[in-house]
Amino acid sequence: MKVAVIGAGPAGMSCANALLSFGLEPLVIESAAQVGGIQRANFRPNLWMLGIPGETGCQITERLARHYFDLPIATLMNTRLLAVTKAGMGLNLRLAGPEGESEQAVAALVLATGSRPRVTPELAVLARQSDRVIVGPLSETIRDGICASRVLILGGGDNALDHALYLAERGNRVTVCARRQFSARWQFRASCSGQAEIELRAGCVPHSLSAIKDGISVTWNGGAETYDWLLAMYGYEPNSAILERFEPAIRPGLADSGHIQVERGQRTSVPGIYAAGDVTDCIQPSVPTAIAQGLAAAKAVEQDQTS
Ligand SMILES: Cc1cc2nc3c(=O)[nH]c(=O)nc-3n(C[C@H](O)[C@H](O)[C@H](O)COP(=O)(O)OP(=O)(O)OC[C@H]3O[C@@H](n4cnc5c(N)ncnc54)[C@H](O)[C@@H]3O)c2cc1C
Repeated sequence: MKVAVIGAGPAGMSCANALLSFGLEPLVIESAAQVGGIQRANFRPNLWMLGIPGETGCQITERLARHYFDLPIATLMNTRLLAVTKAGMGLNLRLAGPEGESEQAVAALVLATGSRPRVTPELAVLARQSDRVIVGPLSETIRDGICASRVLILGGGDNALDHALYLAERGNRVTVCARRQFSARWQFRASCSGQAEIELRAGCVPHSLSAIKDGISVTWNGGAETYDWLLAMYGYEPNSAILERFEPAIRPGLADSGHIQVERGQRTSVPGIYAAGDVTDCIQPSVPTAIAQGLAAAKAVEQDQTS
């Protein structure tokens, strides 16, 4: 019995592995060229995976991917979902991949499309105009390309302050501006407060941002400043826009936050459609949470399909 899994991050890979072990036939559909999800670029040691202390997100991704590719799981890479329609007791998927368009009939479907960095429309435009504007965390440029510079970070959560600490260690002077109070964990706030190279400004919103040669010009209430780099760390939003491609009668319900709503067994509001990982409203988004939810979704599929 074929079950589609959309997304090959930790949730999707775990779900496919479990479906296989429950005697079902997973078909994984991934829009990117690689498996692994958002953790693939994380060069920092992981915080939540018990048993492998110090291993980075990249290393965990490699570990998961090695195991995944040892399994006989059909995987369509670089493939987008064009439409999902009801077909008898199951679903019909229309796909667009490197070989062109195709259709797949499946008994059930698991959404594991994760999340992406949140960005304002203005910053999205600025990031297209200037390579000195980086949206979201942990790129190669952040790891290797920013040193002895003035960096402005917009955002007040864990990611903003973790990046401030990382960049200060590399000889940068970092200003971090949070719209309101800093929401980052106290450990990050305490570490940043003790650093001469890091300035934390709460309740601080730029009036305007513009790209200049080799940097960014910022105006505030108190005047104007220039920075060499601007990093936007405004958190994440779920990749749930994919539901627009579902026939309305089989479109799972969303929470106000835009996450896919799930109940016990990762079941959505539509029978036969499940969701796991960061695309749902996890209380603590993480690799182990995603892995556990992928497994739970597979178990629910098995129960529902055989009952
Ligand atoms: C900077 C950072 C640091 C983190 N640090 C840690 C840590 O130390 N420890 C930890 O446990 N967790 C950490 N996390 C969280 C962890 O990475 C996520 O919770 C986890 O990756 C979620 O897995 P997922 O499979 O739900 O989603 P993702 O990892 O986001 O994977 C989703 C997959 O779906 C694919 N996809 C999206 N849309 C479509 C579509 N329309 N069609 C097909 N495929 C699609 C994506 O390409 C991706 O491969 C961190 C996250 C970030 C961003």
